[in-house]
Amino acid sequence: MVSVELQNIVKKYRNVTAVDNVSFKVDHGEFFVLLGPSGCGKTTTLRIIAGLETPDSGRVLFDGRDVTNVPAKNRNIGMVFQSYAVWPHMKVYDNIALPLQIKKLSREEIEKRVKAAAQMVNIAHLLDRYPFQLSGGEKQRVAVARALAFEPNILLMDEPLSNLDALLRVQARAELVKLQKELKITTIYVTHDQTEAMVLADRVAVMNKGRIMQIGTPDEIYNRP
Ligand code: ADP
Ligand code: ADP
Repeated sequence: MVSVELQNIVKKYRNVTAVDNVSFKVDHGEFFVLLGPSGCGKTTTLRIIAGLETPDSGRVLFDGRDVTNVPAKNRNIGMVFQSYAVWPHMKVYDNIALPLQIKKLSREEIEKRVKAAAQMVNIAHLLDRYPFQLSGGEKQRVAVARALAFEPNILLMDEPLSNLDALLRVQARAELVKLQKELKITTIYVTHDQTEAMVLADRVAVMNKGRIMQIGTPDEIYNRP
C-alpha cells in the first residue's frame, strides 16, 4: 500500500491536451475516483500512473519517490479495464496465473495466490472453466482476481463495471467496496457515472477537459450549495 501523487502532469497528443496540469494526492489505502465525461482525460491520467504513458511534464510520486521514469513493469500495479481482457484460450486459473508466471514466482506461490484471489471474488469454483463458459460478471471477477493475485501496491480500474447490466453492476459495486475496505489497497478508479463515484469513493476528483475541477469526499462534492 502506497500513496500516489501527481504533480502538474501535462500530456498532449498533437493538438489535444489530454491532461492539462493535473495534481492530486491519493493516500495510503484510499479509494479515489476520477469522475468525468468521455474524453476528459481520465484514462490518460491512469495510464500515466501505470507508466504506460510518459507525461510531457510533471511528476508521478509513489510514497514520495519519483517514479516518472520508472517503467510500468517495475511499478507493481494491478489494472482492471472495461473490456475484461481475459484470454479466451486459457482456463480461468491460467488467466489469473499468467502475470505471476511472467514474474517467475514459484509454482506453489502461484497456486496459493491464484486460489486466494479467486476466493476473494467468489470464483474459486470456476478455475477450470474457459472464459466462454462464464457470464460477463464472472469474467469481470477473473480480471479483478488477476489484478489482486499480483498483490499490487496500487489498483487502477478503468470503468471496470461498465459492460455489466444494471443489476449486476449495483451488486458488483457493493462487492468492490467491501473488498477494497478489507484489502485496503490504494485504488484509483475511473468512471463517468456519478452514482458509482458516490458509492465507491473516499474522495472524488471531478475532471473536465483535461483539468481537475473539484476534489473532495462525495458528501462535499454533492451536498455543498
Ligand atoms: P477519457 O478516459 O476521460 O475518456 P482519454 O484520456 O481517453 O479520456 O482521452 C483524453 C483526450 O485525449 C481525448 O480527446 C482523446 O481523444 C485524446 N487521446 C487519448 N489517447 C490518445 C492517443 N493515443 N492519441 C491521440 N489522442 C488521444
Ligand atoms: P480504454 O478503453 O479505457 O481507453 P483500453 O481498453 O484501450 O482502455 O486499454 C488501455 C491499454 O491497456 C491498451 O493499450 C491495452 O492494450 C492495454 N491493456 C488492456 N488490458 C490489459 C491487461 N489486462 N494488462 C495489460 N495491458 C492491458
